[in-house]
Amino acid sequence: MKKKNYVALILSLLMASSCMLATGCNETADAPKEEVVICDMLTQATDYTVVIPSDYTKTEEYSAKQICAYYQEVTGEKMEYVVDSQMLLTAESTYISLGDTSIFESAEKTHGGVDLSETTLNTDGFYIFTQGKSVFINAYNDRGIMYGAFEFIEHTLGVRFLTNDYTHVPKSNSIILKSYDQSYAPLFRQRTYLNTAVDRDDVEYTAHMRYNTDYCEMPDYMGGSTQWANLGPSHTSFNIVNPDHYVTGETITGMPGSIVFKDEYKHVFAHTGTDENPDTMYIDVGGRYEVLDLCYSSGVNEDGTIADEEISAVKLSIEGLKKKILEDEEAEFFMFGQQDRTYGCACERCKAVKESYKASGLMIRFINCVSDGIRAWMQEENINRNINFVIFAYSYNEYAPIDDAGKPLSDTVIPRENVYIRYAPIHGMQYYALNDERQDNETRGIYSDWGKLTDNLMVWTYHAYYAEYFWYLPTIQAMKDTLVLLKEVGTEYEFAQGCYEDNGIYEQWIESYVFSKLCWDIEADVEDLRNEFLYYYFGADAFEYVAEFHNRVEDRYSLMSTDPDIVIDSSDIFTADYWQYSFMNGLCGLFDEAIAATNANSNLTAVQKQRYVQNLEKAKLTPMYMRLYNANSYVELTKEDVIFMAQEWIDLAESYGVTRYGEGSNRLLNVIKNKYNLN
Ligand SMILES: [Zn+2]
Repeated sequence: MKKKNYVALILSLLMASSCMLATGCNETADAPKEEVVICDMLTQATDYTVVIPSDYTKTEEYSAKQICAYYQEVTGEKMEYVVDSQMLLTAESTYISLGDTSIFESAEKTHGGVDLSETTLNTDGFYIFTQGKSVFINAYNDRGIMYGAFEFIEHTLGVRFLTNDYTHVPKSNSIILKSYDQSYAPLFRQRTYLNTAVDRDDVEYTAHMRYNTDYCEMPDYMGGSTQWANLGPSHTSFNIVNPDHYVTGETITGMPGSIVFKDEYKHVFAHTGTDENPDTMYIDVGGRYEVLDLCYSSGVNEDGTIADEEISAVKLSIEGLKKKILEDEEAEFFMFGQQDRTYGCACERCKAVKESYKASGLMIRFINCVSDGIRAWMQEENINRNINFVIFAYSYNEYAPIDDAGKPLSDTVIPRENVYIRYAPIHGMQYYALNDERQDNETRGIYSDWGKLTDNLMVWTYHAYYAEYFWYLPTIQAMKDTLVLLKEVGTEYEFAQGCYEDNGIYEQWIESYVFSKLCWDIEADVEDLRNEFLYYYFGADAFEYVAEFHNRVEDRYSLMSTDPDIVIDSSDIFTADYWQYSFMNGLCGLFDEAIAATNANSNLTAVQKQRYVQNLEKAKLTPMYMRLYNANSYVELTKEDVIFMAQEWIDLAESYGVTRYGEGSNRLLNVIKNKYNLN
């Protein structure tokens, strides 16, 4: 078992303002410069003031207010923000300047090396430098200025944005300002870890994590829209071509939910092509019969151009998209996602195209035609906008349409310059990085293959055991290698899907924190980031215990990963052979000890103590659930013991508002109650 020197670690965390530096600033154009102490902000002759430009934006004003509010919360002293009025900048001035103020212009001239270009800052980045005693934050866009303000709040004021309901705000009567001089750029122009907060449009959390995502529409005062059309983020094909518009109104007897297409539209939709009934176009989704998808060869000529036929999937898609484009004047990205199925259309034509160009080639030929049609229409109508289409490489069409030499199978499968591929390695093993040698054969190397075909890439990675959210499946150990790969191959958008359906699942918060930090500093040490979260979220008294919890769980996984009988991402990981009763009691016990140590600290305020204990109890739900999961197989337990254990878990879960234990509408707490005959 890994042993760490906890005392040394805690000490280094306590010296946060010096050591945290390393985590926030490395993804830069230049190497980070050494920090020099400038002054104590609280003891200056004139108070520090935030300055925003005379033509300030709502985001600049919000950013200024955030700095003032946190400064006051940390120090108890007021800080004001003012609108630029051509103030004089001297070595003794005490300003925090946001955006294009007149003092920024003058300071920038003296500095001579502030690069705010879109490329250097990868759109959402920012630059911070100090001159005299003043601080200057500027960016390519509004979002960057807001992120720069957050960087200052975290780095100089010592605040840590941790979860959607807990931010660490220290109390201090001294704020040591150290020199800044560098740019900060995100690895990807768009990025998010999807957890419950992001999914529920918690804009404050999303802003604090510096996420930029189609899953959470940001208000004007937080940098505004990410320019995604409001089509839904994933399986959108039926939002563009709605099957219900082309039906007779009948249903097929014995097939609830089935819709019958008018004859002239039948070929537009996918055929499931069973031998018994080659015409059928439905799949059985739990007793309801749904249309499979569109037929993605409908309307595409052999040579990849748009077919003349009047009614086709291509033409209906173009018509559908025209409406969406006109409806949303700001949108630049339009998701055209296949339905969430394990296979696509099985008509003869689709089969032949897949034979030549793979399933992904079929989809690219289709979207290329749609792109051509939309482009022609925009020219005719004089619409001058940046319109991009995004398709999935997912499930049955993950593989890039290239040959063994890495060349495209045909010119027709090269995506148009406004077509993006969103690769979602659903078959991959989350425990390993995408290109890890232990990764699934169907996943390793596949993303690099896509990079041989196009630079327009987006990714959808997976970070939870979806059927059992409370079963801890760590992915932070693989995160860095995957992010490095994504960066190397060229990625516009990294979307990391964690648990997104219940606030009460602990794993989503710590993983999102590590992800967020790595997206802005790929050099940061993952274990340090993990420990930083633990230290601030659970408090100094609990730190050693929760770190030990993580170490034990991580050790158990590394042990399992070398066991030839265990497939690491499958339900094999639940085996009681590795999660013995005594071991699980030990994990739960660490939280009890952490709670006791927290309660025993008389220096904590009652409110702070209560918060730490709540955070600990919520996190304890995870090992308690894992213990309950195998309880029936523990010989040490009687039936009554198991029921007691289940009741204990349910009571704690309900006290924290937990409503579900896994993905989907059928994994609710009631299922567990019924399983153990609880009330
Ligand atoms: Zn077809």
